[in-house]
Amino acid sequence: MTHFSVKSSSHPQIKQNFDLTSFNTLGLPSKAARFVEVSSTDHLLKLHEQAFFKEKLPFVLGGGSNVLLKDYLDIPVLKNSISGKKVIKQDENFVWIEAGAGENWHKLVSWAVEQDFGGIENLALIPGTVGAAPIQNIGAYGVELEQVFESLELFDMRTGKLHTYRREECEFGYRDSIFKRELKGQVIVTKVVLTLTKTNHIIQSSYRSLNDYLREHNITQPVIRDIFDAVVAIRRSKLPDPADLGNAGSFFKNPVVVRSVLEPILREYCDVPYYEMEGELVKIPAGWLIEKAGWKGRRVGNVGTYENQALVIVNHGGATGEEVYEHAMRIKASVKKVFGIDLVPEVNIVQ
Ligand SMILES: Cc1cc2nc3c(=O)[nH]c(=O)nc-3n(C[C@H](O)[C@H](O)[C@H](O)COP(=O)(O)OP(=O)(O)OC[C@H]3O[C@@H](n4cnc5c(N)ncnc54)[C@H](O)[C@@H]3O)c2cc1C
Repeated sequence: MTHFSVKSSSHPQIKQNFDLTSFNTLGLPSKAARFVEVSSTDHLLKLHEQAFFKEKLPFVLGGGSNVLLKDYLDIPVLKNSISGKKVIKQDENFVWIEAGAGENWHKLVSWAVEQDFGGIENLALIPGTVGAAPIQNIGAYGVELEQVFESLELFDMRTGKLHTYRREECEFGYRDSIFKRELKGQVIVTKVVLTLTKTNHIIQSSYRSLNDYLREHNITQPVIRDIFDAVVAIRRSKLPDPADLGNAGSFFKNPVVVRSVLEPILREYCDVPYYEMEGELVKIPAGWLIEKAGWKGRRVGNVGTYENQALVIVNHGGATGEEVYEHAMRIKASVKKVFGIDLVPEVNIVQ
């Protein structure tokens, strides 16, 4: 059950003028002045010795499923491909798994479900790498990474040192963490440790579409495999596959606003969906706001808003990063005008 592959420790190769078109799920044409792929922490230490991090800290790329790349990046790009996964500890009820940052997230989830390890089955089919998962505290179908997160190891590009960050130190929030704020652009996650259940799995099935799916399929006592299968089926039916239609998932975060902002919207649209948060706060689905502002399925040139989910911006083919950015900004301005709400991109805009 335990395997952890340590890839070659030969010198990482720095490539010039590297094409990133197939390295981002929006399929945007983009070139990096310098590009390097690392498959071990040893590679990072070697790059540090070569003063690679001296001039400009590189942009760290995982699976490229949450980035908007402009056509030319004069900052170096470092692709994290550190692989391996293993069980590092277990007791009667829990198992601690460690995975390299470059591992594919969905494959890790599938592997966990095969072993009957519970806790991440609701996060099935989220594209990207394990190392990027804590950056925005990935979440879906009622579960967020922080619920199973134990710790991570990171490489500090400024000092060339490795550090361990425990959950409290990551300051997780809704699609947020310390790595999107104070430590943005300064560290490289190298591995992640998760605590999963071996027994007494906590089945999280209250999310509406998940619950509906289970009911329609007469699954009354779901096990983690049922949740995994249901999430995979729902996601396949709702979201465009980047292999067919370039996209980066939800383009904007769902805005969290004070109740007084919701009230005038409620008076006009009695069906506005919202979720109560702590205190006077409510979360409104950004997709609903964008749809009501008239953007669902709308296309401008090569860029559009997905016909089944207004929160997803798609590349119909041939779009540039600039076009996608402009499309996003038009949507943002429109939602601000109609509802007075500022949308904040969830996707990382790489200058
Ligand atoms: C179809 C689709 C559906 C999606 N659904 C969801 C969803 O349900 N929930 C959700 O939360 N997200 C979702 N996403 C967004 C995306 O999959 C996640 O944010 C994912 O974690 C990004 O992983 P990545 O490896 O592709 O990261 P990238 O896009 O390569 O990078 C994202 C950010 O993380 C940083 N980063 C990446 N790896 C590292 C590292 N090792 N160390 C330090 N920084 C790093 C990058 O610099 C960048 O700022 C979806 C995307 C798509 C295309």
